[in-house]
Amino acid sequence: MYFQDRYLTDEQRLMRDTCRRYVDGVVVPFLRENRTREWDMDPTARLVPEILEEADAAGLRGLGVPERFGGVALEPTALSQTLALVATELARGDSGLADKLVQNWKISVLISQLAPEHLQEEYFARYNADPQFLMAHCLTEPRGASDRWLPYNAPSVNMDTRAVRDGDDWVINGRKHFISNGYDASLFVVYANTDDAVGLQQGTSSFLVPRETPGLEVVRCNETVGGRFMNNGEIAFVDCRVPGDHLLAHNDALAKAGIYFRPGKVLVAAKSLGIGVGAYEETVAFVRERVQGGRVILHHQAVASRVADMATRLEAVGALLRHAAVSVDEGSPDADVLCNMVKVFASHEVVAVCKNAMELHGGYGAMLEVGIEKYLRDALINLHSDGTTDVSNFKIVQAMFPETVGSYAG
Ligand SMILES: Cc1cc2nc3c(=O)[nH]c(=O)nc-3n(C[C@H](O)[C@H](O)[C@H](O)COP(=O)(O)OP(=O)(O)OC[C@H]3O[C@@H](n4cnc5c(N)ncnc54)[C@H](O)[C@@H]3O)c2cc1C
Repeated sequence: MYFQDRYLTDEQRLMRDTCRRYVDGVVVPFLRENRTREWDMDPTARLVPEILEEADAAGLRGLGVPERFGGVALEPTALSQTLALVATELARGDSGLADKLVQNWKISVLISQLAPEHLQEEYFARYNADPQFLMAHCLTEPRGASDRWLPYNAPSVNMDTRAVRDGDDWVINGRKHFISNGYDASLFVVYANTDDAVGLQQGTSSFLVPRETPGLEVVRCNETVGGRFMNNGEIAFVDCRVPGDHLLAHNDALAKAGIYFRPGKVLVAAKSLGIGVGAYEETVAFVRERVQGGRVILHHQAVASRVADMATRLEAVGALLRHAAVSVDEGSPDADVLCNMVKVFASHEVVAVCKNAMELHGGYGAMLEVGIEKYLRDALINLHSDGTTDVSNFKIVQAMFPETVGSYAG
């Protein structure tokens, strides 16, 4: 079910099987051993280093890193499909862990296309040498996140984070919040306004900023309802000086960020699917064992009907996901609209699947030590990811009816 074997290449089948072995052999036992670890309020104590070390040993960190810099060689014409497949498998184990790695893959692809060769060599070498090396993509600020996703293209919507040229360097001031991997990343891609006279699409630039840069300070870890093994952070930039060659895109950074966003939305959907598959598999095992009314509960029609509903929703998400991933890989004109569609559709369908999983587990569904409630919490995180549902729906309508695009809401 979901990613049917018949659609997979040999390479994808190998990646899926490797990832499944890692999830079932390393991630799931770690989670089951102690369900309260997720709630440790010391963010550095939640995930033990072995989890990323084992991911590295399984070859799951190097996706997106060019082969010449030590990455895993993937067929470029099926990149989004392969990443989606692996993200689904990872999230079937833990979606926070999937978040951690997916950010690394997407940012590696972005860097491989935008950064100068010598910086790729430097940062990919550091990435390869340290399994705990994470990357973060910093767009969101306390003000105006949805305005930028749409994006409204008026100067009043421009980012509050600003970068100003000073000699050969750029000096960044501002604040980014809600950033995946933001608490513990070693390398940040940071978006900042570089021309206040024009709109977001003509005046936003992106920079590569290593964590040790003076003026970059990670100020907090945001405690979230789900995806808790990914540490979400807030970062302040005070006269943060980066060399000129660390500029990734000058004034057209949002257009170039499409390299990150298109597969990004596919991967949010893939993570949703993985969560749903995990919830479904555990629920099927439970309803085939739990006895009420003199028989295993799967043999009660109301239960059977819910199981069928869960399976159908996952199948539909898997089909749309594959369709969207293929459109990204083909560079098809409908890629943007399909990516938004699958992101929204998957997140809502999987919340419904996880609610059914909770209900079919009865009281056990609510118990921390059983782990079913975790699927629902993890699924809820994806409703707003990479744009809220309503904003993503706007983007679908904008793509279908371009005359509805406005420069600003007011
Ligand atoms: C766990 C997590 C991980 C994240 N990771 C990252 C990351 O790695 N990098 C990053 O840059 N950001 C990240 N974000 C931020 C995320 O992208 C934003 O939270 C999201 O885009 C919504 O922005 P907001 O929270 O400011 O809500 P707002 O934009 O304030 O939206 C609030 C509500 O208003 C609605 N709304 C907004 N504008 C309109 C409008 N014009 N018309 C109608 N309704 C509207 C929205 O749909 C929503 O329901 C993350 C957030 C979380 C919680």
